[in-house]
Amino acid sequence: MDTLVIASHNLGKVQEIKRFLSPNSLKILTLNDFKELSEIQETGDTFKKNALIKAQITSQHTKCIAIADDSGLQVDALHGAPGVYSARYASDIPNPNNNSKDSQNIIKLLNELKNEPKETRTANFHSTIVAYKPNGAYIIASGNVKGYISFSAKGTNGFGYDPIFIPQGSKKTFAELSSKEKQTYSHRTKALKQLFKLWPNFYLNM
Ligand code: IMP
Repeated sequence: MDTLVIASHNLGKVQEIKRFLSPNSLKILTLNDFKELSEIQETGDTFKKNALIKAQITSQHTKCIAIADDSGLQVDALHGAPGVYSARYASDIPNPNNNSKDSQNIIKLLNELKNEPKETRTANFHSTIVAYKPNGAYIIASGNVKGYISFSAKGTNGFGYDPIFIPQGSKKTFAELSSKEKQTYSHRTKALKQLFKLWPNFYLNM
């Protein structure tokens, strides 16, 4: 059985990708299985560059096919921020209560939008996914979901910005939806569906 490595430590992301892969007959590992690999620096200024960096380094280190997702929230009123910097968005604000990184990001974003009415709280969630082989071949796909930023954090499912993102067509945040419901809207699902259209050709031509 071939091994595929998901190039992430983010449990939420890993679960969403794994759920998608489960019907396939692959052994699935994550970066948590390769503790010797130091944290990969996301030095790119686009989702594509960062997804490629993560997939390439992981594939070359593990000698397996690697799948990497680079994703982020693009808020119209903030000219597309936090965008590729979504994970590090609140690294510049004080954290006296030792909040998690996700909570800090949410606090900062809600604060930035505190004067915006519903009409101007529109946003897009983006995901770019790369599958990369040790021989350097790769495929790439992306997905988007439009929606808006809620006025307060709601729900306990999911991860990251899920408690404040309401996808178009829903009244609930991603974190109020079940994981199955989130999948029907999700940027990541759309990217994975695209990627797996390219998969048979990529995988079989090892
Ligand atoms: P990166 O792709 O690891 O650089 O992280 C992207 C940032 O966006 C992190 O802060 C994630 O928590 C967040 N993020 C990515 N995808 C999702 C999602 O599906 N829901 C909520 N937050 C997400």
